[in-house]
Order: sequence, then C-alpha cells, then structure tokens
Amino acid sequence: MTKKILILPGDGIGPEIVAEAVKLLDCLRADFGLEIETETALVGGAAYDDCGSPLPESTLDLAKAADAVLLGAVGGPKWEPLEIALRPEKGLLGLRAGLGLFANLRPAILYPQLAEASTLKPEVVSGLDIMIVRELTGGIYFGQPRGVETLASGERRGINTLVYTESEIERICRVAFEAAMRRGKRLCSVDKANVLECTELWREVAIRVGRDYPEVELSHMYVDNAAMQLVRAPKQFDVMVTTNMFGDILSDAAAMLTGSIGMLPSASLNADNQGMYEPIHGSAPDIAGKGVANPLATLLSVAMMLRYSLAAPEHAERIEQAVSKVLDRGLRTGDIASPGTETVGTAAMGDAVLEAIRAAAA
Ligand code: NAD
Repeated sequence: MTKKILILPGDGIGPEIVAEAVKLLDCLRADFGLEIETETALVGGAAYDDCGSPLPESTLDLAKAADAVLLGAVGGPKWEPLEIALRPEKGLLGLRAGLGLFANLRPAILYPQLAEASTLKPEVVSGLDIMIVRELTGGIYFGQPRGVETLASGERRGINTLVYTESEIERICRVAFEAAMRRGKRLCSVDKANVLECTELWREVAIRVGRDYPEVELSHMYVDNAAMQLVRAPKQFDVMVTTNMFGDILSDAAAMLTGSIGMLPSASLNADNQGMYEPIHGSAPDIAGKGVANPLATLLSVAMMLRYSLAAPEHAERIEQAVSKVLDRGLRTGDIASPGTETVGTAAMGDAVLEAIRAAAA
C-alpha cells in the first residue's frame, strides 16, 4: 500500500538538507519501487511568517494523516523576539503532542571513518552504534504537582514530580524491545531503582515486558553508572531505554561522543508506529543559505523512517551503506572535514549518496 510522507523543511538549513532527502525519496520511488507519496507543508518560523502560527492546523492535520513526517529543523534569530507561544520551537512541541509521540529513538553512531571527530580515543568510540530510547511525554517533565510555592516561613520551594503509570512504562519498554529485536538483541534499562520508587516500578515492568521477548538479553543499570559507562566503554551497549529526564541527558552525552551532530538522525514514535523523523541538530542559522550544511543526518533520518514507520528495512540499509561508501571515498562536508579528505557542499554530498545507492544496485 502506498505510504504517505509529510515533508516539513522548516527554517534555516532545513530546506537545504530536506531537499537532499526529497531527492533520495524520489530515487527510491523511481528506481527501487518504494511506494510512497509525499506532500510538503510549513512549520516553525516559516509557518509563522506565512500565517502567524508556528503550527498551522492544516499542517497538523496533514501530519496526523501521514504515515511518517520528515522534519528539517526549526528556529532562528529572526523569531527569537516572539513570545514563547509563537516561537518556531512550539511547532515542534505541538507536533509531538498532537501525534502522541511518546518514544524518542536516538541512535549514536560513529562511522569508523570519522573516529577522529570524537573527543574520546578512537579505539573507545570507533564503530560505535548504540540506540537510546527515551520516554518523551511523561515523567518529571510533566508530573503533578509542579511549580514554585511560598511556605509560611516566607521561603520558596520548587516542586517537580516524577510520575509513571505502568502502561506508560510498558509501552516505552515495548518500543525498546522491538528496537533491540531489529538490532543486536541486547537491552539495558536505565533507572535509579535504589532511590526512586517510581523507577523501582519501571524496573519491575521492564522485566515483565521482557518475558514477551525471550530472545532479548535484558540488563539494568543505575543512571549514574550508565553515564559513567557511556564515557568509559560505550560500545558495551546496544539499546538503552530510560525515563524522559535520564534519556534527555544520556542521549545528548551519547550524541556528543560521536563529535559530529551533522551525522545523527532521530525518530519519535507513537503507539501506531507513526513517527516524526529529524536530524538532532538545529537550523544552524550561521551557515543557512550557503549550501554547506551536512545533509547526512537528514538522509539517515529517512533510513530510520523506512525502518520504523514504513516497514522497508531493505531501503534503510541501502541508505546506510551508501553513506558509509561516500565516507570511504573521502567526501566530507565542512563540519566533518579532516586533513586528506575532500570538502563538498550539501547538494554534492546528497548526489554522492544517490550515486552510491545506484552503484550498489548495478
Ligand atoms: P544548531 O544545531 O543549529 O547549530 C550548532 C552548530 O552546529 C552550528 O555551528 C552549526 O553551524 C553546526 N551545525 C548544525 N547542523 C549542522 C549541519 N547539518 N551541517 C553542518 N554544521 C551543522 O544549534 P543552535 O545554534 O544552538 O541552534 C540554532 C537554532 O536551531 C535555534 O533557533 C534553536 O532553537 C534551533 N534548534 C532547533 C532544533 C530542531 O529543530 N529540532 C534543535 C536544536 C536547535
């Protein structure tokens, strides 16, 4: 059945990098029989400029009707003076809430060709390929009660509450187990069960869900140790699953291990495997319009989309292998350039990936 993809280029470098993803999707449709139809809409600052809202209702409706959404990036200095409710970032949050995207999948991949880009020793990170599954719509960021109150003594007290229901834990654990099944079949659930009752429950539910996935080796780690292990020996992990706040912190740390944010994709999924896919980087206003942005994180986001929402893992592999081939050839955008490599622009990098895909099939 033909799958629907909504394309949201957004702001800054968004339109430039998304243009390469559109070329890639067109190639997969025309030359490899991928059955998709695409539609493009406005979000973020571009949408605000057009109609005064960072997430027009028409865009949200199209997103709801699509099997998957591909987003470039939103934001930029032009819209910073706006009140928070009208800022481009609100468009993103509105999409997450509107689509019920509770699972955030953030791979941290370091292609061996780029091992020098990391701040860690190449032997510690070369070939790193881990996936952090972060719960995105619950936990301490949303729990009640919250706020700042003034006590009778006049002193103020700040409150946030860590809350998870069993069903919230269960659904995120299922996403993580499914991801582990598609990868190395190892899952590490990260909690603070020695101190927080809420994550004691998290651990109990993870074990229960694990009974449905006997092939996956489940382990547990306290978050403080997980942070240490990520830096000490990150390649020990395959998939990690954790709460909203722990995942926020650990996934940024893991991304930075790779030293190249222009390379990292992400996915946010709901219960129906409908998803929004985007590079982890922002709209990079400093290089927007110059044709130098790295499109690879966006192309790899397309690969994730094919794997997780469109059930087309063979096409995902085509893209991932082509990216590796292009790096083997020594082609680099400015952000990942190193001595002895050839620096190319956004469109040339996108073209090189298409060439590699076609060459692999010839
Ligand atoms: P950023 O990720 O946009 O840029 C940080 C640095 O990385 C910049 O030097 C930029 O040039 C570079 N960079 C980022 N992506 C690159 C790419 N593909 N190729 C080459 N270089 C790249 O982060 P920032 O500067 O903190 O934020 C800029 C804007 O993006 C802000 O308005 C922010 O709110 C927004 N933002 C949006 C998202 C999103 O849409 N998901 C995420 C983060 C930030």
